[in-house]
Amino acid sequence: MTELRIEYLHEEIERLTRGLESLNLELASLLHVNIVCTECGSDDVLLSASVRWDVETQEYNVANIYDGEHECGTCGHLCDIPRVPI
Ligand SMILES: [Zn+2]
Repeated sequence: MTELRIEYLHEEIERLTRGLESLNLELASLLHVNIVCTECGSDDVLLSASVRWDVETQEYNVANIYDGEHECGTCGHLCDIPRVPI
């Protein structure tokens, strides 16, 4: 393989890598969502959860999140948890 061919392949790899990095950023932005109140649109939504004490870390760890039980901290409305793209 000639040096020119190797240089060309190296440039192609760099170009493809830049394209993948750009695509990863776009995909990451598509995966970001926000949880909002269906009544007022506020994202000040409270969820019920249970926690478990971890002796090793000396912290509580979330053991379970109850998706069906949440309340809007702004208007007090109880509703489902719609997730909207950011
Ligand atoms: Zn609300």
